[in-house]
Amino acid sequence: NHDEAWGRVDEFLGATLIPEDPALAEVHRSNARAGLPPIDVAPNQGKLLNLLAQLAGARRVLEVGTLGGYSTIWLARALPPDGRLITLEIDPRHAEVARANVDHADVGERVEIRVGAALQSLAALADENAEAFDLVFIDADKQNNAAYVRAALGMSHPGTVIVVDNVVRGGAILDAQPDPTAAGSREVLELLGAEPSLDATALQTVGAKGWDGLAIARVRG
Ligand code: SAM
Repeated sequence: NHDEAWGRVDEFLGATLIPEDPALAEVHRSNARAGLPPIDVAPNQGKLLNLLAQLAGARRVLEVGTLGGYSTIWLARALPPDGRLITLEIDPRHAEVARANVDHADVGERVEIRVGAALQSLAALADENAEAFDLVFIDADKQNNAAYVRAALGMSHPGTVIVVDNVVRGGAILDAQPDPTAAGSREVLELLGAEPSLDATALQTVGAKGWDGLAIARVRG
């Protein structure tokens, strides 16, 4: 069965490329203790985010959807000491677990967690004239994906990288009547393709998290 082989290959990739990491292993344990759903990115995806942030030379990162801070820690580790990551989370319990996890991983000083509906937090950041972000990772309620990309574009510069997770959803984006989540994932792909200021692609992924995909865009110079 494919799914099982995908999981085994993911385990091999993790064991071969991504050394055992006590701080990240503790995130999984502390999330499970607190009853958070195990819907964080896989280790090889976390490492991809980390590499993208390094390749972009990111100093400022914006994340939409914190959960327990697993992807947050991967991204924050790519930042220089004076770097900043702002992550948006609607569930105060998730934010509390994430706070403890990022502090325990020694990246707490770089990470600000804002609790509230991300659309509101994004509007507040725009009102504050927040300095542009170098990388934006979108991984929250998929219905709002397109709105998150539009908000991110308002806080970007030429070269800003925008990553959107879960854009394939086991192929459900092509369903005749997609559920609202799959519809949001499809809509964001259409936006990334149509928006003149963005240069984008998407890849299907298989692995421990099943069949899904990831979109990557760059704000044109
Ligand atoms: N990026 C995380 C990781 O890989 O470790 C996983 C994020 S999880 C898939 C999605 C998170 O988005 C959940 O914690 C959920 O509470 C949060 N969320 C859902 N709707 C939201 C909204 N409207 N505003 C902000 N966060 C939201």
